[in-house]
Amino acid sequence: MIKIKKRKILLLPGDGIGPEVIQEVKKVIQWFNSNKSLDFEIDQDLAGGCSFDKHGTPITDEVFYKALECEVVMLGAVGGPKWDNLDFSKKPERALLKLRKELKLFANLRPAICFEQLVDASTLKPEIVSGLDIMIVRELTGGIYFGEPRGIKPIENGERKGVNTHTYTTSEIVRVAKVAFDLAKKRSNKVTSCEKSNVMEAGQLWREEVQELHDKEYKDVELSHMLADNCAMQLLKNPKQFDVIVTDNLFGDMLSDQASMLTGSLGLLPSASLGAKNKDGEMRAMYEPIHGSAPDIVGQGIANPIASILSFAMALRYSLDLDNEADALEKAVQDVLNDGLRTKDIISEGMKEVSTSVMGDAIISKLQ
Ligand code: NAD
Repeated sequence: MIKIKKRKILLLPGDGIGPEVIQEVKKVIQWFNSNKSLDFEIDQDLAGGCSFDKHGTPITDEVFYKALECEVVMLGAVGGPKWDNLDFSKKPERALLKLRKELKLFANLRPAICFEQLVDASTLKPEIVSGLDIMIVRELTGGIYFGEPRGIKPIENGERKGVNTHTYTTSEIVRVAKVAFDLAKKRSNKVTSCEKSNVMEAGQLWREEVQELHDKEYKDVELSHMLADNCAMQLLKNPKQFDVIVTDNLFGDMLSDQASMLTGSLGLLPSASLGAKNKDGEMRAMYEPIHGSAPDIVGQGIANPIASILSFAMALRYSLDLDNEADALEKAVQDVLNDGLRTKDIISEGMKEVSTSVMGDAIISKLQ
């Protein structure tokens, strides 16, 4: 059993713009070390296409074991056209999937926040998204993406049949629902649980287990159930009705992408993937921006580092128990946006366009 080392952070910048945005996170961590007397120990290594190029594998055992002993893994992004034609097992994304699976990161937290300064960037009307602040909790290691049996098989009539299996157990549902209820308590105290209990037995079990947990341990949190297709509609019609949404792997994949697009700002949204706490209260976790490696803008110094910096704010809050520092970092981002600084992806009339590193420096200067 590999022990987690407190305050040890592994940076895995990955491919494309990953190294550009993680460089800004590194500057932020170094600022906290120098100015707040924090003792974050930083390590950095390869994962994704860059690891394949050097070692012939998207993640080496050595890097994987490093991730196991770190309290926080900060990932940039992996993938790009260069590696698109590799065998499935060698693809850069395998690094991500391996980390999520082997670190047992079962709860994926995806906030969808509409920054007041960027309300016009959404495709929805300002009054629908202004003030939006939703947290989607997606189950990440179960359900149809992992269920057995799976595969493509020939069948008797000469056709082929593709099979995937949607399965959930009580404990898989309960542990992710607990994360959602605990988060709701620190927010607006409302959980909406989404499944398809009308047509799927696993969905029926999901609904029953979430309700039972609520009645036993979380009576003080407001719980409602919603069919996942209705949730997709409600997210467009009246997204501000939601506080925390908890759902399974497949529906969470789609609903969280949909919710993030309400805000119209891919370069701003962070995410966290959390594991279970051990008996010492320690937890493995990985933090990453929701965007990909953006091969179309790599090397131009125009990538927006805010999603990655806010991912580190989530690490401060959820892994390192440093709520004040997380608040300060989030406020620094808001202040910079209030000052009118924008990277190219979020530029609008009257605002000042800045590079990736100038944006990072500006956020750090607001922390001062
Ligand atoms: P993408 O998120 O990389 O890019 C989509 C668009 O958003 C592009 O126009 C890009 O320039 C822009 N964009 C993204 N992040 C930005 C940022 N921080 N600042 C400014 N602009 C930004 O999605 P894609 O183009 O579909 O995928 C590109 C590659 O990334 C693919 O290989 C894909 O597999 C991979 N990918 C990786 C992850 C991950 O590592 N978690 C997630 C999604 C996609």
